[in-house]
Amino acid sequence: MILYSPKHPTYPCLMIPFATAATTANPVLYLSKLYRYHTSPPFLHATRSHHQTVHKLLPNHLLVRIAHSVMSTTAPAPTPTPPLSLPTSSSNSTTAATSLSGLSPNSTYTPRYIDVGINLTSSVFHGSDHGKQYHEDDLEDVLHRAKEAGCQKLMVTGSCYDESKSGYELARQHRTYSALFISHTSTNSISAGLIYSTVGVHPCSVKLIDSHPSGPEAYLSSLRTLAQEGASSGYVTAFGEIGLDYDRLYHASKEDQKKYFVLQLDLAEEICLPLFLHSRAAAADFEDILFPRLPRLKGGLVHSFTGTVDEMRRLVSAGLYIGVNGCSLKTEKNLEVVKQIPLERLMLETDGPWCEIRPSHASYKLLNKDECPPIPKQVRRDRFKKGLMVKGRNEPCNIPHVAYIVAAVKGAPLKEVCEAAWKNTLDLFGMDKTA
Ligand SMILES: [Zn+2]
Repeated sequence: MILYSPKHPTYPCLMIPFATAATTANPVLYLSKLYRYHTSPPFLHATRSHHQTVHKLLPNHLLVRIAHSVMSTTAPAPTPTPPLSLPTSSSNSTTAATSLSGLSPNSTYTPRYIDVGINLTSSVFHGSDHGKQYHEDDLEDVLHRAKEAGCQKLMVTGSCYDESKSGYELARQHRTYSALFISHTSTNSISAGLIYSTVGVHPCSVKLIDSHPSGPEAYLSSLRTLAQEGASSGYVTAFGEIGLDYDRLYHASKEDQKKYFVLQLDLAEEICLPLFLHSRAAAADFEDILFPRLPRLKGGLVHSFTGTVDEMRRLVSAGLYIGVNGCSLKTEKNLEVVKQIPLERLMLETDGPWCEIRPSHASYKLLNKDECPPIPKQVRRDRFKKGLMVKGRNEPCNIPHVAYIVAAVKGAPLKEVCEAAWKNTLDLFGMDKTA
């Protein structure tokens, strides 16, 4: 094994078991793959390596990028100096949290988050929208900002077969490396990776099942195979997004939505996956279909909750969890509902690229700028600048704002909210148990 060491003491120790690369059948491809999925622009200048063999394979700056990303996924790296070109909030999180969180100024608690609803397969995270390319793919920057903000795990939402497959691939790509490198280091501090995913068809997309050229059964069969494979490999942690959406019946009729909700619940039962659920303006039918089946299912999360207090209470009584994002915090009524969600049933999400917290929302006034991590700098997508956020595109790095608002609404310490959501997520989806 060959070690790379940093020139600059403030940067994390760079360690790559290059023996692995050198003995891989195609080392260039191997390293290029690593590079593709782990980029850390601020570490470009960290070191010039002495090892010529590896030098020949890729330019030095790529190796440095790789080295940092590997380090950050295999061991609790020393806190790196915040990059000059990237907005970051992690270093502010602890101090920012002191007042609202009820922590003493000397507290060492650093908020940790799992974004349970994030649509990373959306084209906007690759720079395009409706077929138009606005800027370069900056998904890796999004992931970098997420980690900087304290997001330790992300669960990528699958809304149809293709998206579910992409989410699964994304999870695999980002986990392969940590698993690979753990075997070459002494650390065992990471039991699992950054990205997980769900498999399922959103109620607004059930036409894809119904109109599949080979018929609905073929579509559902592919979904079953994907979910089975994903679940057994540990990358897929939930069946969803499934449910009912009566606000958007122009996408699919009530009958079709109900039909495929039932059929997908059967699949979830068969594969033994917990549920990632969507319910919009359909509480009665949603509960009629779901509740009788719950004893045979592995539980579930009703994400992006915007229903009433009574609805929330019925879901909680049935043993379900409630996911809160910016859409769950839009109105005073929403805030009143969130206030009532028991902490032991709460999960946090962004639902990015949607559901951002906007100045017009009731929640916005609760974003105390002295206490919350700052909102990172944003630019319009047609003026994209590498390393900056894109205006109107919600990201996992905004999840601290959801947590701060929930804490403020509930009058609870931030730590309690974060830790409850963390525990609930692992209890239901078991990301820490997957290898
Ligand atoms: Zn949804």
